[in-house]
Amino acid sequence: MLRLIELTKSEYEKLLKKIQDKVSETRKVSTSRFELPKADIMWQGNRTFFRNFAEFPKVLRRDPEKVLQYLSKEFATPAQYTGDKAVFVGKKEPHEFTSLLAIYLKEYVECPTCKSPDTRVEKLNRVTFLICEACGAKSPLKGQYA
Ligand SMILES: [Zn+2]
Repeated sequence: MLRLIELTKSEYEKLLKKIQDKVSETRKVSTSRFELPKADIMWQGNRTFFRNFAEFPKVLRRDPEKVLQYLSKEFATPAQYTGDKAVFVGKKEPHEFTSLLAIYLKEYVECPTCKSPDTRVEKLNRVTFLICEACGAKSPLKGQYA
């Protein structure tokens, strides 16, 4: 009797493991979305240096000028872009950059249809479209920072 229970238990565990593997597989696929680099922030006086700014427009495949304008507008503070880094007036926290760039990613990069970040921007008669290279969807962009 005890033996039988043990067997059942191990079988059950095997089955459970199988299910868990399946679940984590699916999870991996659905979260294999885009990962943004970590914002490298340094403060000097009343200014914030975003030292690896250039990495972001590169991975997002967007115009650095537009990404900077977006951050500047959201922070409501002037910003400048020199070489790889961007300089902002005032003290900004790293998590502020992270969350703004995550919003930018959602609004200006991610395909609204399939959520793929493999998109490019095309302008047609003053309307900006997001063209998805994964599913082919063409979606008009409302914002002006692409
Ligand atoms: Zn798509």
